[in-house]
Amino acid sequence: MPKTRRQEKPAPVTAEEPFPLGACSVGTEEPENPFTTARRQLDEAAALIGLDHDVHELLRWPLRELHVALPVRMDDGSTRTFHGFRVQYNDARGPNKGGIRFHPEETIDTVRALAAWMTWKTAVLDIPLGGAKGGVVCNPKEMSPGELERLSRSYIRQVGRVLGIEKDVPAPDVYTTPQIMAWMADEYSFMQGHNDFGITTGKPLAIGGSLGRGDATARGGVICIREAARELGIDTKGATVAINGYGNAGSYAHKLCVELLGMKVVGVSDSKGAIFCPAGLDHAALMEHKRRTGSVGGFPGTEPISNGDLLELDVTTLIPAALEGEITCRNAMKVRARIVAELANGPTTPDADRLMHELGVYVIPDLLCNAGGVTVSYFEMVQNTSGWYWEEMEVQLQLERKMTSAFRTVHDTARTLGVGNRLAAMVVAIRRIEEAMRLRGWV
Ligand code: GLU
Repeated sequence: MPKTRRQEKPAPVTAEEPFPLGACSVGTEEPENPFTTARRQLDEAAALIGLDHDVHELLRWPLRELHVALPVRMDDGSTRTFHGFRVQYNDARGPNKGGIRFHPEETIDTVRALAAWMTWKTAVLDIPLGGAKGGVVCNPKEMSPGELERLSRSYIRQVGRVLGIEKDVPAPDVYTTPQIMAWMADEYSFMQGHNDFGITTGKPLAIGGSLGRGDATARGGVICIREAARELGIDTKGATVAINGYGNAGSYAHKLCVELLGMKVVGVSDSKGAIFCPAGLDHAALMEHKRRTGSVGGFPGTEPISNGDLLELDVTTLIPAALEGEITCRNAMKVRARIVAELANGPTTPDADRLMHELGVYVIPDLLCNAGGVTVSYFEMVQNTSGWYWEEMEVQLQLERKMTSAFRTVHDTARTLGVGNRLAAMVVAIRRIEEAMRLRGWV
């Protein structure tokens, strides 16, 4: 690491500190502010490598953020004002990139944390992008398609001014879909006066989406599980899996764990219920059940369990694929899986991560494990810009290359430094971002 005149300053940084960095004592942990979590992860990695003070200070803050009020005409004729955000965390390595979430519990700090994680994630995968995230406080489950469309368009009318293929490109995230990306791309195109579909990724194929984007997050994670199993000498054939969260990432992970690795998914949960079936769950039948009833709960031939029980199942691989903060000091000691593959963003608190590392659980951190989504989003950007569209096999081949190379870098760095994979991934990311910021003369 380059030395600078201010190298002697002590780390971690203690600039104006809006969020106290609390310690966790086992069994008493309160849910932590996700941005506090993100900063604790950064601080830990910075201390490990003796990161230069000025670089560290800059990385603790989003470079830009926009807060918007969004008027939306509701079906009953009233106008409701929703609140939204777009946080552009750091674009030293390329345009900002990251999804938009529609969620009733969205907060600016959740979006800041997710934007920071996107920044580290694109750096871990070594794709030439920065990190951003957007969010709207709303409950899409209680809104009609028309209301959702008007909300999506309203978001772009307010936030579009800070977006652009060279500036910031959104994508789907929790409760946002290819259809929502299509409405957003359409609204942005009219604002520009010409078609500019590359403004979002994760679009439907008919308007510039990429083949292989739908299952990309899960596929990248399953590639990581395969590599981890190889490292640990585990035969995946017949090995068991539990999945917490059954949205896009979780449900495709079910399919691909079975199809690509011959694994057996014995437990899954969603926001309404959790089920267990030692013989293994059939993906197609479960998807059909969820489509009909709205939940995985009550799937015939399964035993109802709690979400807590699901996290503690005696399985080879646990896949948290829901929201942040699922694995905490309270339950980390009870995780019996050998591999935890984080398809969600931020599902594990730093203390829980440390505990699991000490207990010998092989954690594939979100920054690596769920990066297949943004990697294929990057391929979509390349296709939109060049106007040349790839075969699905080509997308999968390039994804395979990117994921295995990033896995190897993180795994080897963890070995070399004698730390867990998350800290190793953070170190890989920070070093790359630091190099870009130095070359650009920011620090
Ligand atoms: N929302 C996904 C993530 O958290 C994808 C982001 C993107 O494709 O830009 O990684």
